[in-house]
Amino acid sequence: MNFDYSDKAKSYQEKLNAFMATEVYPLEKEHNEFAYHPDNNWKRWPKLEMLKEKAKAAGLWNLFLPKAYGDLSPGLTNLEYAPLAEIMGRLLWASEIFNCSPPDTGNMEVLAKYGTPAHQEKWLKPLMNGEIRSAFLMTEPNVASSDATNVSTSIKLDGDEYVINGHKWWSSGAMDPHCKIAIVMGKTNPEEHRHQQQSMILVPMDTPGLKIVRPLSVFGYNDSPEGHAEIILDNVRVPKENLLLGEGRGFEIAQGRLGPGRIHHCMRLIGMAQRSLELMSARSSERVAFGRAIRDFSSVRQEIAYSRCEVEQARLLTLSAADKMDKFGNKAAKDLIAMIKIVAPNMALKVIDRAIQIHGGKGVSGDTPLAHFYAAARTLRLADGPDEVHLYQLGKSTIGKYYKEPNS
Ligand SMILES: Cc1cc2nc3c(=O)[nH]c(=O)nc-3n(C[C@H](O)[C@H](O)[C@H](O)COP(=O)(O)OP(=O)(O)OC[C@H]3O[C@@H](n4cnc5c(N)ncnc54)[C@H](O)[C@@H]3O)c2cc1C
Repeated sequence: MNFDYSDKAKSYQEKLNAFMATEVYPLEKEHNEFAYHPDNNWKRWPKLEMLKEKAKAAGLWNLFLPKAYGDLSPGLTNLEYAPLAEIMGRLLWASEIFNCSPPDTGNMEVLAKYGTPAHQEKWLKPLMNGEIRSAFLMTEPNVASSDATNVSTSIKLDGDEYVINGHKWWSSGAMDPHCKIAIVMGKTNPEEHRHQQQSMILVPMDTPGLKIVRPLSVFGYNDSPEGHAEIILDNVRVPKENLLLGEGRGFEIAQGRLGPGRIHHCMRLIGMAQRSLELMSARSSERVAFGRAIRDFSSVRQEIAYSRCEVEQARLLTLSAADKMDKFGNKAAKDLIAMIKIVAPNMALKVIDRAIQIHGGKGVSGDTPLAHFYAAARTLRLADGPDEVHLYQLGKSTIGKYYKEPNS
């Protein structure tokens, strides 16, 4: 691959860095005081809409969507988007300013790829405009959901409607007052082959029978206002036109959704790790212990040096995966996507942990982004498939690549 960024990519990086410096970082403290205050649970920070308008006016909007969708997306490649997602990932809440936040990004891609013109008019347009948010309901508390064939929510046709019954959790974004639409995965065809039983269907959040049971927390963080909800679907009825693509095609959609989504998470993780590296370099230069700056202890320098190596390794692997996706499609890039999905969260956890250590007590407090980074990075060893599932598939594919049965 060619490691030079295109002029277009460079100009977006410059614009985004400048926007972050002038509009976002100066408000980080104010945002955090609002977002972490218990009185503000499930309330949106009032200045967010103002920042979104400014980002839209600056042309920093829907940067994630690989091919142009009307004039609302600049149509960047994955390779061009990667450094932008990294810049946004330096703050846990920044992606939404640019309408590049999960799960909306994946849901918009699903609607763009598989939605009918009516779905696109009703849901994709307001999502692309940043007027509403969305959720993706696959995981269930009662079955091991890393094996998506286990997902047991039932979706049954009854006249002109589908009736949905099930129990979901870890529905990220569903607590947000702006969340208006969910993509729900469930079984329409339980008798079919295991990969043809599942379907995906659009369920407006205000449909009778959809009940939010509670918000879940991640190491105590509730991630307000998006949150992660536990949800009951009790005889939820939606028009049969809400089914995406057709009965039994849920896996096909899931594959299309998860490839780009996984790599976007990795890009943001690199942003978190890079910022942690910068923070530990600064902190170790400012503190003195046992008569010298902490940065002058060789063990500290090694931790910083290892961190720089590992961030760069993961960055290059991510770019390689992005490049392959652009040139040969998501399917051809599946091994590289698996590699980076395994590498990036573990790398980020190591680097963030070192940064926490070098900060001493401050590192685990709310006075730096490190503690929340750690919690967020840890969830990405589980979300979008646990490490072991990716390792298993990658191991299988690697053995198949390097070993052929003697008589085959
Ligand atoms: C913060 C957060 C946000 C999330 N957001 C969403 C969302 O928006 N929508 C959604 O649908 N889901 C979401 N999830 C759920 C997430 O995708 C699942 O937690 C994940 O897929 C694992 O499923 P599970 O929790 O049922 O674990 P299980 O399937 O019960 O697996 C538990 C463990 O078993 C082991 N295991 C599983 N398979 C294998 C294997 N093949 N080999 C070896 N060991 C194995 C692994 O250690 C694994 O972690 C989110 C999760 C978190 C933590």
